[in-house]
Amino acid sequence: MNLILLGAPGAGKGTQAEILVKKLSIPAISTGNMLREAIANGTELGKLAKKYMDEGALVPDELILGIVADRVAQPDCARGFILDGVPRTLAQAEALERKGVKIDHVVSIEVDDSVIEARMTGRRVCPKCGASYHVTANPPKTEGRCDSCGSELIVRKDDAPETVRHRLEVYHASTEVLKDFYGKLGRLATVNGCQSIEGANADILKAIGAEV
Ligand code: ADP
Ligand code: ADP
Ligand code: ZN
Repeated sequence: MNLILLGAPGAGKGTQAEILVKKLSIPAISTGNMLREAIANGTELGKLAKKYMDEGALVPDELILGIVADRVAQPDCARGFILDGVPRTLAQAEALERKGVKIDHVVSIEVDDSVIEARMTGRRVCPKCGASYHVTANPPKTEGRCDSCGSELIVRKDDAPETVRHRLEVYHASTEVLKDFYGKLGRLATVNGCQSIEGANADILKAIGAEV
């Protein structure tokens, strides 16, 4: 089961990916988390990616394709994987097809632009494991601490309202066309992301034909 989660920034891709990892026992591949880890580790990739991410712009396709191709070739992806936040451009989607990365289902999590800002201002993330929380909609068990690894939660720099607005523009200009791309290939399902986290998850599982 190779799955792509599509959606605007804040649609709930990361949150849903975390739940699906447990339910489907396959890994999630979040390019955002991989890039943030590269920045934290001061790697060459991190240095190249940082300025784009801080501005809410897309990191160049070549950098993204390199890390994704390596990751999906790892043994733990043999039974399937969940791509969270990638592909984000037509060029990335076409390159995955060319490289023979087989995609079974693409689920677009649909959320109105008007709710995104509230989601982002309340988002708290774990800098160590990438888990995503919300101060009211999905709070951690202990305030300010990651449920999975106990690290102190942080606010992402690019979740500032001005940057979020730019990221939303980028989504509409560069990423939304992927719905047409995968729709024409007959692999697209859309799910309402403006409902409870559990409700959206149930709809995703139904859309991919998975037993719960
Ligand atoms: P993405 O990975 O698509 O950017 P996240 O999964 O990080 O989105 O979710 C963005 C924010 O919205 C987080 O704070 C998350 O806890 C919260 N969130 C996710 N799904 C829902 C939902 N169905 N209802 C309300 N808040 C949600
Ligand atoms: P969100 O979950 O809120 O949509 P991500 O964590 O997926 O945000 O991405 C954060 C930033 O990392 C993006 O704004 C972009 O700069 C960069 N990024 C992540 N994935 C990609 C990708 N597939 N292509 C280009 N840039 C990416
Ligand atoms: Zn954590």
